[in-house]
Amino acid sequence: QGMLGVLGGGQLGRMFVHAAQTHGYRVMVLEPDAASPAGAAADAHLRAPYAEPAALSELAAACVAITTEFENVPAEALRMLAARRRVSPPADAVQVCQHRAREKAAFAAAGVPCAPHAVIDSAETAASAALAPLLPGILKTASLGYDGKGQATVMTLADLPAAWQALGGVPCVLEQRLPLRLEISVIVARGADGAVVHLPVQQNLHRGGILAVTQVPAPDVPPALAEQAIALAGRLAQALDYVGVLCVEFFVLQDGRLVANEMAPRPHNSGHYSIDACDVSQFDLQLRALAGLPLVAPRLHSAAVMLNLLGDLWFPQDAADAAPVTPDWAAVLSLPGAHLHLYGKAEARRGRKMGHLTFTAADAGTARANALRAAAVLGLQAF
Ligand code: ATP
Ligand code: MG
Ligand code: MG
Repeated sequence: QGMLGVLGGGQLGRMFVHAAQTHGYRVMVLEPDAASPAGAAADAHLRAPYAEPAALSELAAACVAITTEFENVPAEALRMLAARRRVSPPADAVQVCQHRAREKAAFAAAGVPCAPHAVIDSAETAASAALAPLLPGILKTASLGYDGKGQATVMTLADLPAAWQALGGVPCVLEQRLPLRLEISVIVARGADGAVVHLPVQQNLHRGGILAVTQVPAPDVPPALAEQAIALAGRLAQALDYVGVLCVEFFVLQDGRLVANEMAPRPHNSGHYSIDACDVSQFDLQLRALAGLPLVAPRLHSAAVMLNLLGDLWFPQDAADAAPVTPDWAAVLSLPGAHLHLYGKAEARRGRKMGHLTFTAADAGTARANALRAAAVLGLQAF
């Protein structure tokens, strides 16, 4: 069936490798790090920087189609590859997702509501009195932020210049801080023929800016709201002429309105439950879109609750120099419907995504009850 290529060596690439291998493909990963989750799982590991022309040339020569597992891959690398091979997602769409201002412009162009915001890219704009209506607000670096990194809450106009400097004085977006009822995400996949399928709406709980828990079916989302979110995500994929898997994060405001937060041009942490709870996972969809295989609508065959496993779990003591302790997986795996996924990262670090744990069950109440038991065993906060 040939070789497929992936730019990036993280856990998303690793789970793509697994899906591709299950379907009989071999996978080559381009990743500079010697030890990486995807590199270890791949059939071939090309160890070079993502934008190195010789490495891209070798990847294109070896692979029939190429995808990426992270959005900060140089768009030029995708363009170079696309001149020779099928590449998804498209470079233009990835470039939009790399910059919060471009991303919000894309939301607006597609008729998708997003938070009131302004671009701050100079000391003058940071001192502008016209920004008052956006406060209290969240200042976010326009590019390279993830897991809440590169963000600061700003309460008053007087605080803004210092907050901007503290983020490095780089181009930023100031967003109005919105009154959230809850957070959801929608994963769609669009084929080269324009066909769009979607996963069920995911309800997400974040702690400290990092995804902590995903529940599907979304317990607090009425069907009409779910339909609306799915329609908006599909509209975005179409407007971007997108091919591949796209995740759109939404806020549900206190008044019930739906507002897009950001999007990711790839499978998403909130979609990991689909490996165990759907008949077609988000990584299967990525593979199908990339390889030109049929996209069929995934069916949720089990209720699911996913818990993210951060490196903090390996450090039950507070001491800064404590040695890591492996969590009690046996206790977790004694619970019904537990699916443990560890990414094979060399070293546990606080805040680092080490794996995830999905509980499936015939009904949502059972999945939640078992996930809560696991949370208690692991010392995670209840939800
Ligand atoms: P990710 O890892 O999802 O890419 P990120 O670093 O890009 O994270 P955001 O998704 O922009 O960060 O924000 C992280 C979290 O902060 C959101 O999930 C939400 O809980 C909160 N948040 C962000 N923007 C706003 C806002 N405008 N109003 C209220 N809360 C917000
Ligand atoms: Mg983000
Ligand atoms: Mg986010």
